[in-house]
Amino acid sequence: MCRHLAYLGPPVTLAEVLFDPPYSLVRQSWAPRDMRGGGTINADGFGVGWYPGDGDPVRYRRAQPIWSDPTIADLAAVTRAGAVLAAVRSATVGMAVLDGAAAPFAEGRWLFSHNGVVRGWPDAVVPLASALPVRDLLTLDAATDSALLWALVRHRLRAGDDPAEAVARTVADVAAAAPGSRLNLLLTDGRQVVASVFGHALSVRAQPGSVLLASEPHDDDPGWRPVPDGQLVVATVDEVRVRPLPAR
Ligand code: GLN
Repeated sequence: MCRHLAYLGPPVTLAEVLFDPPYSLVRQSWAPRDMRGGGTINADGFGVGWYPGDGDPVRYRRAQPIWSDPTIADLAAVTRAGAVLAAVRSATVGMAVLDGAAAPFAEGRWLFSHNGVVRGWPDAVVPLASALPVRDLLTLDAATDSALLWALVRHRLRAGDDPAEAVARTVADVAAAAPGSRLNLLLTDGRQVVASVFGHALSVRAQPGSVLLASEPHDDDPGWRPVPDGQLVVATVDEVRVRPLPAR
């Protein structure tokens, strides 16, 4: 059920992040090592967002398997960035397969991804959605759970929530409204990454000057650390902090 990753560190090519590792995100699109909650491959779309210098991020998203896109490999080979967020998608049954349904979702400096599912969609989260400005609902990228989760997180960011708070509170709200949901969220502004671990796997590899967070390790480096379920990760190139999410 989707795989996502975030990288912060010295500029690297997108190919080094997406294609080159032995169990790369591209390989995870057709041969993930850890799928749970249904689905076997991640072929319903993909997206990558990266930060060119200090500017706002650029995105490339498509509603097709990453392996069949004629552009991404060439683009990835020549594009360098020191911050990247990328995802491959396995659409939840009944959800649209459109470019706009593929992560990353974005606004300003922010990039966002969701690995998981909102149970009881959409009825379970109508009360949460009703609290959003109508404009946000009318301009969702797609009529999917992930796009709504981004609208909920973004609403908190716009209101001045700290990013870790915005992610943690959104997970708590949605878990309460829609029990059994899987809510691995990933949010970055290119300087720090916030990730929730709630129903799916996440591993972190911190090295001097860089950090990678990924649904599954992309190689056999012993530096990968699985993050236990129910935790919130806040990572920069200098520090990785892990703390419990508010109770389910
Ligand atoms: N439920 C989300 C979607 O359909 C994410 C799917 C996933 O994590 N596999 O887009």
